[in-house]
Amino acid sequence: MKKVSIFGATGSIGSNACSIILNNSTKYRVEVLSANKNYKKLAILAKKLNSKYAIISDKRYYKLLKKELSGSKVKTFSGEDDLINLASVKTDFTIAAIVGIAGLKSAYKSIDKTKVLALANKEALVCSGNIFMKKAKKHNTQILPLDSEHNALFQIIEKNNLNLIKNIILTASGGPFWNKKINLKNVSVSDALKHPNWKMGKKISIDSATMINKVLEKIEASILFNLELSRIKIIIHPKSIVHGIVNYVDGNSVMLASQPDMKIPINYALSWPKRSQFNIENISFKKVKDLSFFDTNLKTFPSLRLFKYLNSSKLEYSRLIALNASNEVAVESFIRKKIKFLDIVKVIEKTLISFKNSNPKSISDVFEIHEEACNVSYNYINNLRS
Ligand code: NAD
Ligand code: MG
Repeated sequence: MKKVSIFGATGSIGSNACSIILNNSTKYRVEVLSANKNYKKLAILAKKLNSKYAIISDKRYYKLLKKELSGSKVKTFSGEDDLINLASVKTDFTIAAIVGIAGLKSAYKSIDKTKVLALANKEALVCSGNIFMKKAKKHNTQILPLDSEHNALFQIIEKNNLNLIKNIILTASGGPFWNKKINLKNVSVSDALKHPNWKMGKKISIDSATMINKVLEKIEASILFNLELSRIKIIIHPKSIVHGIVNYVDGNSVMLASQPDMKIPINYALSWPKRSQFNIENISFKKVKDLSFFDTNLKTFPSLRLFKYLNSSKLEYSRLIALNASNEVAVESFIRKKIKFLDIVKVIEKTLISFKNSNPKSISDVFEIHEEACNVSYNYINNLRS
């Protein structure tokens, strides 16, 4: 039986992972399930999956979680310190599916306690890629991306030599606003949350509308596959059927296609290095009328201009941390209706340029830069509003 822990079990990725495990309960033994506030859902999952531990990060919900789980064998915990302690429980497979930098410490902690770390939390990698990958290499832990594009590229690249890759392509659906004749100035939160192809958490849905998601993903790919940013391209593919393409030096291009359903990459990761039977249709290519690809443009996606502030040949993390921090602050402020949609990229740009390129040496350095960047962003937002 594979021992599995899921950090961020109640979210979109976490729930998909739980449902796959539930349908294959003879193959997996669940150790840790975590959530931030949703104690009810966490308790239901912990009971159904018979997990050893359940941890709620927000301590205000601890008593309620304990009550929901009274009479069960599940051991309950709360708070950030316990979350990090539970990331030390030994597993075969750990899923990092907390959203944002809030998931970094537990994901980092788990690296030497697990064999495979299935990473959905791209923000953690963007902020600490150098430190993160170094630890994974040292402990021989496989980092297996769950992000659909990176999972596709992982499947394509796995056995090939990186030197033979000309470049790689990440596809982007374009989100809710691509090719729509609307003024982005006044789009509402609910408009921005309506993703055409994927059902996801709020933050990544807004990130897809601004295309910051692809900015983060390009950086994520650069770290995972050890390729310079200049060798990673983004193209719009509105159907979200092809997820990633690798162009090899010999004129061959290999692409991966599947339904836009996150259960596919999650199941692939859970079964890796084998493939397993999964009850989902392959793409019926005869039925696909239109497999088009389009260029991105800066008018609809001003976020793509942020690359001009990044070193395209070598990642330098202070600006990446600032980029992520300011985006987290800006998305939260947009959802709370404190700023407008188009302000998101302005907040990021203002924050980014106030940081020089440098490289943190430790996870605590990463959090120091993160806090500093959040302050710069909040100040800018307060000035915008006054
Ligand atoms: P979500 O908002 O649906 O779920 C987030 C999970 O993290 C929840 O379990 C929540 O309780 C937990 N969480 C949130 N804040 C926390 C905090 N401060 N401390 C501890 N736990 C906290 O998000 P999601 O859509 O599942 O995305 C999770 C991650 O996966 C993100 O990094 C996202 O970019 C990435 N991702 C998601 C998808 C998708 O289809 N949803 C696809 C690719 C990548
Ligand atoms: Mg993705």
